[in-house]
Amino acid sequence: MADSILVSLDGTRHDADAPFLHADDLAAVRGDGIFETLLVRGGRARCVRLHLERLARSAAAMELDKPDLDEWRAVIETATQAWTEKHGSSGEALLRLVYSRGREHGSAPTAYVTVDAVPDRVSAARADGVRVVTLARGFSIDLAATAPWQLLGAKTLSYATNMAALRHASAEGFDDVIFVSSEGAVLEGPRATVVAVYSDTLVTPPTEIGILESTTVRAVFDVAEQEGWTTKTDVLRPEDLVAADSVWLVSSVTLAARVTHLNRYVMPVAADAAKFTDLVDRAISVDDN
Ligand SMILES: *Cc1c(COP(=O)(O)O)cnc(C)c1O
Repeated sequence: MADSILVSLDGTRHDADAPFLHADDLAAVRGDGIFETLLVRGGRARCVRLHLERLARSAAAMELDKPDLDEWRAVIETATQAWTEKHGSSGEALLRLVYSRGREHGSAPTAYVTVDAVPDRVSAARADGVRVVTLARGFSIDLAATAPWQLLGAKTLSYATNMAALRHASAEGFDDVIFVSSEGAVLEGPRATVVAVYSDTLVTPPTEIGILESTTVRAVFDVAEQEGWTTKTDVLRPEDLVAADSVWLVSSVTLAARVTHLNRYVMPVAADAAKFTDLVDRAISVDDN
């Protein structure tokens, strides 16, 4: 973290290499908190409004104190500027918002922003795509509606199983994962959303089936609709992905990683794959996001 930035929600800069959390912070001992990950590009954090809206929805689902979005917006600005002063504004960075319930025996919530370099895997995923394995999530697409305590629509800090799935995939020779429900419906990746392209139609699974609403897909679909694409949400099966012109794992920092392999199946190379990545690049540049 030598070059990284750490700013608490009150706007105070901290040494990112010094201890910062209390040992009993509920983020550390229970994963009892939420986060957001934003891309900083051209000296500007992208899709801030969409991320703050989701932070507020996640907080509500977790019954955390309602976040003051103006305060968060200000600290995102402070942290982005601090990064840009050090590193210039030409590159990219990963900005993370962390919001936990605070200390185990009661305290104000813990809230801070970090800015750090984009992980190395990102440029490879953008340039070469990702080999994806489908893995069982172990729940039905009905669970989100019947079990709100599962927090399926919230971006919580409880990511141990997501990271375990990625390690499992890696041990099997894959780069990433698409989770499937107990019925075999396509859910999402451990840190990304699935979008399938069929000619000029973009399809993503509906959030009601127990997946996170992607800020990136929201921004992309808005621009796509203005440009004459058809966008829709639909329950997809792995065989629907195989039939698509191209399939993408979409997320804020990696943006769009083309699925090159789905299990042992080699996906055909889409002639106009660049059309989709261009669309994503433009979508995350829209000012009022
Ligand atoms: C963060 C995340 C996504 C992607 O959301 P974006 O807003 O596009 O970054 C999708 N699925 C999961 C499980 C995630 O954690």
